[in-house]
Amino acid sequence: MRNIQMVDLQSQYKAIQHEIDQGMKAVLDSAAFIKGPQVRDFETNLQEYLDCRHVIGCGNGTDALQIALMALDLPPGSEIIVPDFTFIATAEVVSLLGYVPVFADVSKETFNIDPDSIRKNITSDTSAIIPVHLFGQSCDMTAIKNIAEEHDLRIIEDNAQAIGSYYNNNGSKTALGTIGDIGCTSFFPSKNLGAYGDGGALFTQDDALAKKIQIIANHGMETRYYHDVIGVNSRLDTLQAVVLNVKLKHLDKYNQARRKAAHMYNSFFEHIPEIITPREVEYSRHVFHQYTLRIQDDHRDPITQRLKDKNIPHGIYYPVPLHKQQAFQGKMARHGDCSRSLELTREVISLPMHTELTPETIEYIAQTITTYFK
Ligand SMILES: *Cc1c(COP(=O)(O)O)cnc(C)c1O
Repeated sequence: MRNIQMVDLQSQYKAIQHEIDQGMKAVLDSAAFIKGPQVRDFETNLQEYLDCRHVIGCGNGTDALQIALMALDLPPGSEIIVPDFTFIATAEVVSLLGYVPVFADVSKETFNIDPDSIRKNITSDTSAIIPVHLFGQSCDMTAIKNIAEEHDLRIIEDNAQAIGSYYNNNGSKTALGTIGDIGCTSFFPSKNLGAYGDGGALFTQDDALAKKIQIIANHGMETRYYHDVIGVNSRLDTLQAVVLNVKLKHLDKYNQARRKAAHMYNSFFEHIPEIITPREVEYSRHVFHQYTLRIQDDHRDPITQRLKDKNIPHGIYYPVPLHKQQAFQGKMARHGDCSRSLELTREVISLPMHTELTPETIEYIAQTITTYFK
């Protein structure tokens, strides 16, 4: 078994090469590199896919989060509740804008922010919550929305990892990213809907917020060279929109391939008590941005070594909880009890997950782990 990849973008490209190459060529011929018609096409296609009134492309997922916070115009000194167990981008933008990130603990079963921990961290300064739909499935959005309504808080969904998934509220399904005030996503190449470079987008059902977002992402201007607010320069470029337009058509199929791979992995680990396979919550559809196991009793690190010895790629997402990251030490940041998040950093391991995994590769990876326990 040679050359296993964590994410296999080369094989995926081969399958859609003709369409991508043609689309790229059209952009090169037209030279409409910035705000070419393909960008608006993609935004419209994604609006339809998500059943969302507004999709606004931008430079990357981190920019999307930053622009979302800028558009909400929260009071200075606001505290913003984020999960302690996530990629730093979620909290980085909070600090960057001078707000105070407050790290809430997560559930060990779902890896997602724990509504009880959100409640415990609310103060009179709390203005917003940024739930992250981590690894590919929804947070408990009913609980989070109830908290937000009770305390008059805004919600920004960080949906960088779960595009194509939904929240199922008693049979009524809503696309993730369209439930809060604003949703953000990333088109980083390895994401479920990945470009061939950086890209991101914001989603909102609110016309006024959409307008603000458009203005902020474009130097705070509506009329050329008249700047109404301080903005940023953050655009989805035309070449990336070509790729995304092609891949959006395949997104459901891609997510289905991820689910199939995940369920095959599960079947190999089911009977090993030290390994906890990913729980799939009844109120969402897991699209497995990551396939993440929890390995108990300190077996994680020897297994990691075993995978290294066999050249099998794997990831530890995430090795350090946000409240312990150096970047936040001595900064305006706060956290309550985050012991479950800390425990997760010692238990988790993510295995190769992409749309081109074969049953043979999955079996080989899984057996490299299961034979450790024999
Ligand atoms: C990838 C990611 C981001 C940032 O996206 P970029 O496009 O890399 O800036 C933000 N939040 C989460 C949870 C992510 O996984």
